[in-house]
Amino acid sequence: MPIPPLHTHLNDPVSLISAIFVDQEALGFPLTEKILARAAGIPITFLRAGETPLSHQKDFPTLYPEQLGQGKRLLLLTKNRGRFLKACPATREYCCCDYQVLNIGMNCPMDCVYCILQAYLNTPWLTFFVNTEDLFAELIQAQAETPAKVRRIGTGEFTDSMALDSLTGLSRDLVDFFNNRPGMVLELKTKSGAIDNLLDLGHDGRTIVAWSLNAPKIIRREELKTASLTERLKAAARCASLGYRLAFHFDPVIFHDGWQEGYRETIRMLFAAAPADKITWISIGALRYLPTLKDIATSRFPGSRFFHEEFILGLDGKKRYFRTLRVEMYRLIVEELRQRADPATCIYLCMESDEIWHEVFGYTPTEKGGLPAMLDQAAAF
Ligand code: SF4
Repeated sequence: MPIPPLHTHLNDPVSLISAIFVDQEALGFPLTEKILARAAGIPITFLRAGETPLSHQKDFPTLYPEQLGQGKRLLLLTKNRGRFLKACPATREYCCCDYQVLNIGMNCPMDCVYCILQAYLNTPWLTFFVNTEDLFAELIQAQAETPAKVRRIGTGEFTDSMALDSLTGLSRDLVDFFNNRPGMVLELKTKSGAIDNLLDLGHDGRTIVAWSLNAPKIIRREELKTASLTERLKAAARCASLGYRLAFHFDPVIFHDGWQEGYRETIRMLFAAAPADKITWISIGALRYLPTLKDIATSRFPGSRFFHEEFILGLDGKKRYFRTLRVEMYRLIVEELRQRADPATCIYLCMESDEIWHEVFGYTPTEKGGLPAMLDQAAAF
């Protein structure tokens, strides 16, 4: 049966892909066939045993991370031999939100200067897992084991949830799976505007479509190949008009000249575009990074300045701004958000201590039953 073309978007990150590689383990999966049928115009190579996408590249940089710029244009279809569903890799020292991650693939065709994946991954290409039958079997099993547990599950941890979606169509299967499934909430988190696949689906309010937001100057300078702020908010408004709930993530908050006005402007634009009562949660997290990321990012983006500010080493082994600066930035953003947000929207800090929570909000998550309970309550319906 012919595979219908999926919806595409003007600034679709899929348009950045220059080649698709299929390893032997991906053969025979229905999703592999669907992706290849949709990949009109993108060269496809079937890999032999032991080959990688780099086996077929001429004039390719030999070292990582120099390979990353070109590697982000190569997509490998393969099988996930491990688990799809995992706990979010949080640290004990900071307030964790008990989120679960669906590992649908790795790496991203967009190119944010601060992207942690540059330091996490050691292969330059994009990977997408085609054995989604196993993914759905894991979800069914997890729910059967603990049916009373509220599960907030997201796909945007090791990739962007929607970056490859016009090619893979996975969001359609995920939204359909979560539709009418009590106790489970799916969050699709993106910096793209490519949400057309979501527009004609039944979702029963169980899918939250989320965008990472930043000050306009940071989006323009440091979030390369992503959708503009206006495009992201336009996409959010479209989703809201179709009954989807929304979420926004001010993460990473980056100190820069004019940061106050920059974040104020983004928040003004956010609430002008998106209905406040559709927003389930808004997170805020100041820039934090593995020390190895600085060398990688500054070598790839020598014109970028924000890594040259002063940082301390946090309890999780990541660099972060001094406490006073973090609190100052959080307070301003929280104050601006609180002026416009619906009282039911959960505004929270990502990976911060009780002390910082108290300075910013005047209470700690523990006093409200814990951050997971606060988010479960916001997600409840
Ligand atoms: S959109 Fe997200 S995953 Fe993609 S490069 Fe930017 S930070 Fe990394």
